[in-house]
Amino acid sequence: MEEQKIWLSPPHMGGNELKYIHNAFDTNWISQFGPNINEFEKCLENYLGENSFVSAVSSGTAAIHLALKLLDIQSGDIVICQSFTFVASANPILYEKAIPVFVDSEPDTWNICPNALEDAIKHNIQKGKKPKAILTVSLYGMPYKVDEVLEISKKYEIPVIEDSAEALGSRYKNQLCGTFGDLSIVSFNGNKIITTSGGGVLISRTKEHKERAFYLATQAKEDKEYYSHSETGYNYRISNVSAGIGIGQMEVLNERIAQRRLNHEFYNDILAQFENIELSSEPNENFYSNYWLNTIQIKRSDKLSKEILKEKFSESNIETRYLWKPMHLQPLYKGCDFFGSNLSGIIFDKGLCLPSGTNLTDICKERILKVLNMVK
Ligand SMILES: *Cc1c(COP(=O)(O)O)cnc(C)c1O
Repeated sequence: MEEQKIWLSPPHMGGNELKYIHNAFDTNWISQFGPNINEFEKCLENYLGENSFVSAVSSGTAAIHLALKLLDIQSGDIVICQSFTFVASANPILYEKAIPVFVDSEPDTWNICPNALEDAIKHNIQKGKKPKAILTVSLYGMPYKVDEVLEISKKYEIPVIEDSAEALGSRYKNQLCGTFGDLSIVSFNGNKIITTSGGGVLISRTKEHKERAFYLATQAKEDKEYYSHSETGYNYRISNVSAGIGIGQMEVLNERIAQRRLNHEFYNDILAQFENIELSSEPNENFYSNYWLNTIQIKRSDKLSKEILKEKFSESNIETRYLWKPMHLQPLYKGCDFFGSNLSGIIFDKGLCLPSGTNLTDICKERILKVLNMVK
């Protein structure tokens, strides 16, 4: 009999999600309004702490789009974006016909390189066009170098949009990711650390921004007795059913973070003996990762490459994935400016994501170890 598939990062329900879904059905709040949505937003506001105003929306991508709208990003404006990320970080820049400028990674966290970021800003200011926003990402759950980026943001007075789609529960200097940006976002897509089946939140710092986000996410319908619209709006609200899943998932978030961190310890222990595989880990005590995904760098040889290892895992019915391919290497973004040395491209070439779900059993771990031992 074929062994059960080990997925990269499958959804993991806590148990109470159904209770909140039943609530939605019992009260007939099935659509984009209802008590679960308010409760889910409150759960996140409590979790993130003061100064976080949360708007639940239909996806992380929608939240990034709304963040750009709140900053009044318009056609032709420059938005600086971390190159090493999932395409959803950058696509909303194109929705607004703004111009993405991509910045390379630094080696410690794989996130935006502060030096290359400053180069990109200076270069564009010299050309007479100051960038309108800096879009940072905490890739695979690892926070970026927050202090350095914040300093640059302050120095040039350019706001930060913090894409924490993968980093709910991660911390920098003991402060939670999702609280650093002028605007921040989290995703609850099915593969993230917790899920609403599909959804996201926009986190802002003022009540006014939260209200404007709600307005834009509900077709920019004005507060009148009839349907009145003066601006382009969007249909971006989350459903009350999905928000119910979110409330249940928030109850187990801390448990899920602990489980992901245990997965990291497992990989750390076994990979310590491998000379050709390096696991990425927190660079120092300022960084606390939720370890959404465990990622490795593979030293290429005749016997080993990311392709060979992926194939070996696949033969054992274990899912692995290549790293995100950086945006400056994507056909979609060909011709966009890029600042850096292509470190992210090199990391991409050598990288693989290993199974990191919170329901990895000891038996799963043994199967993973068996495959790894084949290439030792
Ligand atoms: C998942 C993800 C998103 C998009 O979130 P969705 O909810 O899938 O729209 C954005 N940025 C990053 C880095 C992601 O991993």
